[in-house]
Amino acid sequence: MNSDSAHDINEFRADLHCHSTFSDGTLSPEQLVSLAKERGLKGLVITDHDTVEAYPSVLKMAAAAGLSCITGVEFSAIHNGVNVHILGYSFSPQNSFIHELCQRHQQRRLQRNQAILERLAENEMPITDEELLAASDNVKGTIGRPHIALAMVKKGYVSDVAEAFRLYIGEDKPCYVRGNLFSVEETLSIIHQANGFALIAHPHLIKHSQIIPQLLSMNFDGLEGYYAKLPSIQNARWVKIAQKKNWIVTGGSDFHGDIKPTIGLGSSWTNEETFNFLKQRFEQNTQ
Ligand code: AMP
Ligand code: FE
Ligand code: FE
Ligand code: ZN
Repeated sequence: MNSDSAHDINEFRADLHCHSTFSDGTLSPEQLVSLAKERGLKGLVITDHDTVEAYPSVLKMAAAAGLSCITGVEFSAIHNGVNVHILGYSFSPQNSFIHELCQRHQQRRLQRNQAILERLAENEMPITDEELLAASDNVKGTIGRPHIALAMVKKGYVSDVAEAFRLYIGEDKPCYVRGNLFSVEETLSIIHQANGFALIAHPHLIKHSQIIPQLLSMNFDGLEGYYAKLPSIQNARWVKIAQKKNWIVTGGSDFHGDIKPTIGLGSSWTNEETFNFLKQRFEQNTQ
C-alpha cells in the first residue's frame, strides 16, 4: 500500500512527484519542504515541468530540515502524436545534458505560449505578455497552460482554471496548441546520458492507450505505479506491469498546491527501498 491516508506514522514515505513555483505549483520549494515535514514524509522530490531551477538550493533546504531529497524533473514529450510525461531522477543538478534539454523546452514554451495567446486573441480573449507574467507571479522557471488559465480568470474570461481547460486550452479545445515537443526516445536518451533514471509518469493518464505497449518496450527504468488518489485497484494494475518487467515502481502525489486543490502532498508515495536505490545513483552522480 503506497497511497491513501491510512499509514503507519513511522512508515518511510517519500513523495516523488510535486511541482513548485518554478513551474505550475503554487508553493515555493521552501514551503514544499516544510509541508512535507508537517505531513510526516521522510523524503521529497520536486519534479517541475521541464526545468531544474529548484536545484541545487532545495537540496540544502531539505537537508537542513532533515528531509531526504534528490533531483527530479518532469519532461513533456511526444510519441506518435500522443503526449507523454517522463519523470527523470538522480542526475547531477549541474548536468549539462539536462540543462540543455530544459533550455530547449523553455524556447519551445515561449513560442507555444505565444501561439496560444494568438488563438485566444482570435477568440476575443486577448492577454498581453505582461498580463501572463503577472498571472504567473513572475515565475522564474516554466510558464505553461495553468498560468495562461490564471490570466484568463484574472481577465474575467472564465470563472476558474478548470473552466479554461475545459472550454479553451485543454487538449483538442479551440485555443490549444501542442507546440514542437521532443520525442520520448530523445528524452529518454538524454536522461540516460545524465546517468539518471527515466520513468513513465502517471501512465493511466496517457490519452491513447494504443501507445502503451510501445512505451513498455522502450528502455524506461520504471513507471509511476502509485499516483495521487488513484484507486488502489488501478495502482495495482500498473505495479503488476512494472514488476513483470523488473522495473522501478514509484509513487507520488503530483501536488500542485491551489491549482489542483483536491490533491494533497503525500497522497501517494515511494517506499524506502526504492527511494534508497534512486538516492544511491544520485550520490554516485554528485560525488
Ligand atoms: P503544459 O505543460 O503547459 O501543457 O500544461 C500542462 C499542465 O496543466 C499539467 O501538468 C497540469 O498541471 C495542468 N492541467 C492540465 N489539465 C488541467 C485542468 N483541467 N485543470 C487544471 N490544471 C490542469
Ligand atoms: Fe502541472
Ligand atoms: Fe504530468
Ligand atoms: Zn506533474
